[in-house]
Parts: sequence; structure tokens; C-alpha cells
Amino acid sequence: MPQRLATTLIQRVKMSQTIRVIGAGLAGSEACYQLLKRGYHVDLYECKNRLKNPVQVRDDFAELVCSNSLKSNEITNACGLLKEELRMLDSLLIKVADECRVPSGGALAVDRDIFASTVTARLLEFPNLTIHKEEFTEIDPSIPTIIATGPLTSASLCKSIEKLFSSGTLYFFDAVAPIIDADSLDQGKCFVADRYGKGTGDYINCPLERDEYLAFYDALIHAKTVKLHDFEGEVFEGCMPVETLAKRGVDSLRYGPMKPKGIWHPVTGQKYYAVVQLRKESNTNNLYNIVGFQTNLTFPEQKRVFSMIPALKNAEFLRYGVMHKNNYINAPKVINEYYQCRDYPNLFIAGQLSGVEGYVESISSGLLAALNIVAYTRGLPMVDLSDVTMIGALAHFISSAEAENFQPMNSNWGIVPSMENTPRDKKEKNKMLAERAINTLKLLSKEKYYDIINFK
Ligand SMILES: Cc1cc2nc3c(=O)[nH]c(=O)nc-3n(C[C@H](O)[C@H](O)[C@H](O)COP(=O)(O)OP(=O)(O)OC[C@H]3O[C@@H](n4cnc5c(N)ncnc54)[C@H](O)[C@@H]3O)c2cc1C
Repeated sequence: MPQRLATTLIQRVKMSQTIRVIGAGLAGSEACYQLLKRGYHVDLYECKNRLKNPVQVRDDFAELVCSNSLKSNEITNACGLLKEELRMLDSLLIKVADECRVPSGGALAVDRDIFASTVTARLLEFPNLTIHKEEFTEIDPSIPTIIATGPLTSASLCKSIEKLFSSGTLYFFDAVAPIIDADSLDQGKCFVADRYGKGTGDYINCPLERDEYLAFYDALIHAKTVKLHDFEGEVFEGCMPVETLAKRGVDSLRYGPMKPKGIWHPVTGQKYYAVVQLRKESNTNNLYNIVGFQTNLTFPEQKRVFSMIPALKNAEFLRYGVMHKNNYINAPKVINEYYQCRDYPNLFIAGQLSGVEGYVESISSGLLAALNIVAYTRGLPMVDLSDVTMIGALAHFISSAEAENFQPMNSNWGIVPSMENTPRDKKEKNKMLAERAINTLKLLSKEKYYDIINFK
């Protein structure tokens, strides 16, 4: 792209347009930086000085509320690749994370105090930033706005979001069942069939004999669970974790998510003592969720206990189950792959509220939403980083998932399209996927989206 055109566009933008960013968490801070450095005036609304949520303790921006780890830094890891792509796009938060890194092997862990104070200081250096230390409550769809108020969005804003989008599009709790890679199933120990033969072969069934069931049951009721915060006590009213249901009696699961009724082997006709069903998470990928297995077990316990289901012995868990308080929209209904609201093109939703899950994922959505609000307001082509990059794959996945069972998604290899002739070795295979992503991003940055990506 000719340098001249980019320069002209920057000059046109400078000192002209104001964009609202709501929430100075991970997504909001990243979005702010991307807009400020491109010359936009940003009106940033952040309420934590006056109204903290139950997990916030600091007054500055980009607070890491729990772990201080941004997960793996290796590009053969999905979250590691996501960070590398963010570095390529000049992410402020990943740059600061790299600067205040603390030793933690192959992971990127940070000193959380230095991280938050440095991000805040870097944003405050911009003269084109106005900070409103107040709760933002009413959305005006005529003003270009990025809403990034996170998993614990304030109650008044939740009401406003519900009013704007039809009711039932904003959720309050995660109840995610584990998702596994179908390629890692033991094919000899599972089969495709629908209950009573009604359907189009939508389920993979993983049967258990009586002794296998009893061993699984015993492990499940004694497994370690995650300690919940006090404010999360009400989480389970509508959606019970599988381990809680199990504790109601040894057969409770056989009348619930492990019900064998109406399921038989399509070739032998054999019936089973208990059956676990797996259902496709999306039409384009190999991701299957364990139906009805929303759980609060710790991640290692999920791996240990659920791998006792014979077909899942060597299963690869692409994401583990979680249950906690989490505000998020029904992304496939509300936003497109640019994090832009389908019905209100001036509005963009980023961060955990958009339906991504995790620190780095929230940062990536803030960055992409910012690039796209720039594109939209300048009449430039919207930025689609394709589903082979991890940033793009996340945006594509959440905006095109099945709306009925939508649950937030983190970065993982199951959401990127596979490649022909990949090596069997997992690390080698991921390396090829990572190289494809990096080359694609380089090309898109140099050519198709040069204007937007190279604004300084
Ligand atoms: C308890 C908990 C623990 C978590 N632990 C981890 C973890 O260890 N690792 C991980 O990867 N992910 C974790 N997550 C998930 C998620 O990655 C983080 O919550 C992440 O901070 C989300 O980024 P965000 O930018 O979407 O929201 P946030 O970082 O929460 O930022 C949102 C900001 O918006 C502000 N805000 C809210 N409402 C309003 C309003 N009406 N007006 C103005 N400002 C408002 C808030 O004060 C906040 O500063 C956790 C989530 C929760 C709830």
C-alpha cells in the first residue's frame, strides 16, 4: 500500500473523530491505545474508582483479577500464537506484559502491579484521551462506541444492553461443558447414533459398562472442585454441575446426562449401562462438547475423571468446563466477525462480554474491534484477519457458532481450519498451523489492510 495514502488518512482522522470506549480493563485499554495512537479522540468511561466489582482491588486500568499468567508463550500453543500475532499488530498490553515479565518457564507471567500501572501510564501520556471516572449506563447507538465492560459488567449497563438487544441475548453465568477434539477419541469405543434413531447422526455416543460406570461415578463424586467466590453462590440454580447432580445418588446420572435409553449400537444392536453423548460445537470444526457435563471440577480433575470414560481415554481437551459468574452476549446473534453489532453498526462489543474467554483473548478482541471501528468510521474495508490466524479464528468462531447453545470460547487449535498433510506429531503440526497464521498476518498487514494496520 502506498505510504502516501496512509499518511493522508491519518491526517484526516487526526483531531477529528471521537470514539467512546466503555471499560478500561484488558480489552478496553488495548482498544484505547489502538485508537489513541491513530489520532482519534477517546472518551473512556471507567467506574472502578467509584464502583468496584467484587474481584477488583486496584484503581488503575488493565487489572488482572485472578492469575498473573497470560499462559504459554510458545507459538506451538494456541494462546502463545495469539500473543505472537498481537505483538505483530503492536498490542500495548502484550508489549507491557513482555516488559514486566516474571520468571515462569514457557509461560508469560507478569508482575500484576507493574503491568496495570504501566498500561495506565502509557495511556495517560496521550493528550487525546479524556477519562470519565463514572459508571456508563445508557448506550447511544448513534455514537461510535466500543463496549468492553467485562464479565462483571455493572447492573445498570446490563439493563441497558438487554433493552437494546432483545431480551435473552445477555447471559449472566457460564456453564461450559468441556470441549474435546473428535480426532482424539478412541473410535473403537464410540459410535455415531441418535436417541431412538431420531436425527441425522448428530451425536457421538461413548458407552460404559456397569463396572466402568461405577468407577467413574466414584471418582466424580470425590473429585476436587474449584472454590467459588461468595458472589457466585447463585450460579447453579438453572444449570447444575455434573458432579453436584451425581451426589444425589448413584443412578442420578443414568437418568440425566448419561441416560442410556433409546441408544444402541448401530451395527450390533448392543445396549449399554450408561452412555455419554458428544455434540458438535460448530459446523466447521472438529470440536465436540460433552453434553450436560457443565462442571466445576478443577482442570486436572476434569482430565483425570472424564478420561475414565473409555472412548475419552486419550481425549484432547480443547477447553475445560467452567461455571462462574460471567456476563456475555449471545455473540452469533449480536455481533459479526468484526465485533460490530449487527443491528447497530456504530457499536462494537469486545472482551469477555463479546463471548471470548480469557485475558489474552479479551486483549485480542479489543485490538480487532478498535481496528474495525477505525475501518468503519473511515469507510475503509473492514478488517477480517481470516480464520487461519488465532485472532481472526476467535472472531469468526464466536460470531458464527450455533446461537442456541452458545458458550464463550478461548483460543485453541480446534477453531482454526486444519491443513493437508500435517505431521502426526502434535507439536510439529501446531508449528505448521502457527507458521501459516504468521505468514497470513504478515501478508494482510502488508497488503490488504496496510492503511489501517500501519497507522501510527
Ligand atoms: C473472577 C474472575 C477470574 C478470572 N480469572 C481469569 C484468569 O485467571 N485468567 C484468564 O485468562 N481469564 C480470567 N478471567 C476471565 C477474563 O479473562 C477476565 O475477566 C478479563 O479481565 C476480561 O477482560 P475484559 O476487558 O473483558 O474485562 P475487564 O478486564 O473486567 O474490564 C472491564 C472494565 O469495565 C469496567 N466497567 C464495568 N461496567 C462498567 C460501566 N457500566 N461503566 C464503566 N465501566 C464499567 C470495570 O470496572 C472493568 O475495569 C476471570 C474472570 C473472572 C470474573
